[in-house]
Amino acid sequence: MQYQRSSALFAEAKKYIPGGVNSPVRAFKAVGGEPIFIKEAKGAYLYDVDDNRYIDYIASWGPLILGHAHEPVLNAVIEKAKKGTSFGIPTEIETELAQLAVGMVPNVDKIRFVNSGTEACMSAVRLARGCTGKDKIIKFAGCYHGHSDSFLIQAGSGAVTFGSPNSPGVTQGTAKDTLLANYNDLAGVKELVNANKGEIAAIIIEPIAGNMGCIIPTDKFINGLRELCTQEGILLLFDEVMTGFRLAKGGAQEALNIDADIVMFGKVIGGGLPVGAFAARAEIMAHLAPDGPVYQAGTLSGNPLAMSAGLAMLTELNARSEIFTSLSEKTEFLHKGIAEVLTEKGVAHQINRFGSMVSIHFCEAPVIDFETAAKGNNDTFKKYFHGMLDHGVYLPPSAFESYFLNDAISYADLAKTIEAVRKVFE
Ligand SMILES: *Cc1c(COP(=O)(O)O)cnc(C)c1O
Repeated sequence: MQYQRSSALFAEAKKYIPGGVNSPVRAFKAVGGEPIFIKEAKGAYLYDVDDNRYIDYIASWGPLILGHAHEPVLNAVIEKAKKGTSFGIPTEIETELAQLAVGMVPNVDKIRFVNSGTEACMSAVRLARGCTGKDKIIKFAGCYHGHSDSFLIQAGSGAVTFGSPNSPGVTQGTAKDTLLANYNDLAGVKELVNANKGEIAAIIIEPIAGNMGCIIPTDKFINGLRELCTQEGILLLFDEVMTGFRLAKGGAQEALNIDADIVMFGKVIGGGLPVGAFAARAEIMAHLAPDGPVYQAGTLSGNPLAMSAGLAMLTELNARSEIFTSLSEKTEFLHKGIAEVLTEKGVAHQINRFGSMVSIHFCEAPVIDFETAAKGNNDTFKKYFHGMLDHGVYLPPSAFESYFLNDAISYADLAKTIEAVRKVFE
C-alpha cells in the first residue's frame, strides 16, 4: 500500500502538535513506522487519505460498537446541532440518557455525565474518598483508568510499599496514596489491605482488563475482591469505560454477576462523542455536589450533541440486545480462525477473549496479569501489525490493547482478516 499523503500530513502535524498526535498511542511508537491519517469511515471500514481501505478493529478504541457513521447516531447529532450546540443550562435529553443508562446497568440509581473516561475515574475516586473519609486507593498494575495523577503509578519495591510515579509531573505526595497490586492476585490485595488497615477508600479495577491486552479475572479473584471490600468497608470501583455497554447491556457487572459500588463509563456511552459518566446507588451519589460536599463540575458536561449520540446508541443497544451475543460469536470466530493459522505456522501465541474483547500475545505462557502480558514478543507483534495494515486490516498499534469488534463487521470481513494473518505469517 502507498502511504505518501499520510506521511506528508504527519510531517506537517509534527510541526504544530507534540509528536503529531493528540493521544500518544496514535503515533505508532510501539510498532514503529508512521501513523496513517483517516479521511472518512463507514460501517466496518476506515478510508485513509491515500484512499486505502481497512477493516477496523479499534472502533475509535471502543465507542463505535455499531460501526462508523451509524445512521441513527448521525441523524440524532445532526438534528440536535441545528438547535444549538451547548447552553450550560439543563436540557431534557440529559435526563433521558440518565434514565436509560440507569435502567440498563445493575445496582445504580443515579449517574453523573462528564466528558471523558479519565474524568469519570478521577471523579469516582474523589467521590469514594469523600464518602469513606479515607485517602488511599488500590489499583492493579496494567489497568488503565485514564491519565489523571492518581493512576499514573507504577510498582514500588515490594507488595506493601507505596507506588512511585511513572510519569514526570506526578508528585510523590500523590503516589503515596495509590497502592499497587497484581491482577488476579487476591492474596496480594489482602496483604495490602492488612498493611493499610482502615485507610483504604477504594479498590479500582477494570473488571475485564483491556489495557494490557484482554485479561480475564478468575472467579475466585473477582468475587474475593467483592467480599473483601464489603468486609473492610472499602468501595469497589468498576472501571467499565471499556466494558460498559459492550459486554452486555449491564456491562461487566451483568456479565460477571457482581455488584460494584461505583461504576465508571466512557467510550460506548458517548456514541463516538466525548462522554464519560459515573454511577452508583443513591446513598453514594448523595455525597456529590450540589446535593453533597464532594465537588465535581463541567462546562460542557451533559452537552446536548454528546447526549444525543449517546442516547441514540444506548437506545439501539437496549432494543437489540442480541447484538452482544452476535458480537461475541463473531469475536469467537475470529479468535478460532487466527489461533488455527498461528498454530499451523508454529507461532507461539496466547489469545484471550471475553465477549467482543480479544487480544493476541505472542508468547508461550498464559497471560493473566501485567507481568505475563509483558512477555509477548514485540518483534513478532510489529511484523504482525504492519503486515495486517498492508493487507487492509487496522489493528490496535500496541500489543497492550484489546481489539474491539463492531456490529458492522461481517463474517466475510472476518474471513478476510484470518486470511490476512495467514499471508503475514507465510
Ligand atoms: C479508555 C479508558 C479510560 C480513559 O478514557 P478516556 O476517555 O480516554 O479519558 C479509562 N479506563 C479505561 C478502562 C479505558 O479503557
